[in-house]
Amino acid sequence: MNGLSPALERLIESIAKLPGLGKKSATRLAMHILSKPETEARILAQAILDVKTKIRLCDSCGNLTEEELCGICRDAKRDSGLLCIVESPQDILRLEKAAGFRGLYHVLGGILSPLDGIGPDSLRMNELWDRIQEQNFREIILALSPTADGDATTLYLMNELRARGLKVTRLARGIPIGAELEQVDEITLARALEERTRME
Ligand SMILES: [Zn+2]
Repeated sequence: MNGLSPALERLIESIAKLPGLGKKSATRLAMHILSKPETEARILAQAILDVKTKIRLCDSCGNLTEEELCGICRDAKRDSGLLCIVESPQDILRLEKAAGFRGLYHVLGGILSPLDGIGPDSLRMNELWDRIQEQNFREIILALSPTADGDATTLYLMNELRARGLKVTRLARGIPIGAELEQVDEITLARALEERTRME
């Protein structure tokens, strides 16, 4: 034993499981929480519980929301003819912040990865085909990371979408090959969206 109370030990261990936090930072954060009034600790604990109990996926696009439809899908001012396909809700956050994109999104919830057993059925692809049948999109933008799996998924979607008679574009090159979209800086991301290219 290192002399810490079991309660404090448990808090440090929980915090240390968060990405990017080692035992040292976890200890500092735990001591900080301990030094604050109980009301602040309750607000933090409740906020953590709320994201697990209140947040769900948007029925239409798969974005995170507390309602049936997310704020983007509910916004009548957005261009409903443009659909941008992304891997995760975080990508929506980034594209919104960086590029001021005014169309709609579709979150796949991952990318195809045969080695990990992730095929089309593991992703929100059927929802995508349903959406495409119901709504009239004049352009579909593929905004997946240019990693090996991301590119394979882009190719798969391009073929499926073209077979359905849709115009398909992808983010312009300029995003480093192999980079995850979340590592790309905002200016590069904005330019890649602006200069998106038609897929041949
Ligand atoms: Zn939505």
